[in-house]
Amino acid sequence: MSFKTKFFRIANPITKNFSFEKFFGSLPFDNLILVYHLVSDEDVKHVKHLFPYRSVRQFEKDLDFLSKHFEFVNWEDYLNQKKTSKPKLLLTFDDGYSEFYNIISPILLRKGIFAINFINPKFIDNKELMWRNKASLLVSEINENNNYKNKISNFSGLGDNLETNISSILKINYENRNQLNEIADFLNIDFNDYLKTNPVYLTTEQLIKLKKDGFGIASHGWDHPLYNQLSLEQQIDNTQKSLDYMMDNQFLNDSFAFPFTDHLLTEQFFDLIFKQNSDLKFTFGAAGLKLDSYSKNIQRIPIETKNYSAEEILKNEIIYYQVLKMLGKNTIKRS
Ligand SMILES: [Zn+2]
Repeated sequence: MSFKTKFFRIANPITKNFSFEKFFGSLPFDNLILVYHLVSDEDVKHVKHLFPYRSVRQFEKDLDFLSKHFEFVNWEDYLNQKKTSKPKLLLTFDDGYSEFYNIISPILLRKGIFAINFINPKFIDNKELMWRNKASLLVSEINENNNYKNKISNFSGLGDNLETNISSILKINYENRNQLNEIADFLNIDFNDYLKTNPVYLTTEQLIKLKKDGFGIASHGWDHPLYNQLSLEQQIDNTQKSLDYMMDNQFLNDSFAFPFTDHLLTEQFFDLIFKQNSDLKFTFGAAGLKLDSYSKNIQRIPIETKNYSAEEILKNEIIYYQVLKMLGKNTIKRS
């Protein structure tokens, strides 16, 4: 358990009489940016071993709470630093899951709330399953099927019991992602068959409709690598390819959200990518409430923590920020 998770557990019961207005006023932020992935009442096999997600009911509860304390803004108002009576809040969704079209956008349209989707162009139209979704799907299939449980023990290099087999699959990194295909072949699991019956990602047609409905579509890297495992050249290539896609398809090419984390990204990367793309205004990480020594890189708050409401997560983030500030650790420093 991370220090932050421990902190959340301790801080939560003692913040019952917390005033958002009072505490938010003391922060150096005039807006918050939240990051979700998807909302679903289903058991989503290709995601459930990666991160928690909200049910429809939980998501609507989050929105009701957020509407009381914040004013949702669209991308233009965010860029123009629109003056609002309540603190501004920008909603973002990562990875381009099809649930945004089927479940989330109808809710947001009904409530008049804007959001940006940060997508990986490589997977749009369900051309391929993203490597992390492959890992989650494999683990789901193994857990649900005794034949796979027996068979996987014969795949070399994953450890000597079911538990280590599963944790090894979930640890396969971007560079070795082809191993996921090898395991699937070995078990006779066909990722493309899965995609045909379960459209995991948004389609081009849906993206165009979402844009018409006023939602933002922007870049989350070409194929969702972990950036700090790439060379500087690979980081730039992966980002540029996805920004070019946005330009070609007339989506937003003035923002970019890092897949996973911007941890260890250097000033050199930021200098290069902003220089190469004169339209690019901001890049986004997901480290929670923190400042960043690179002023055009803005941190978002992950808001899907299991068993915590948006209200509890935000309370904890605000208190945690005060603690980081006292320790002089509230700014991410880049070399
Ligand atoms: Zn992502």
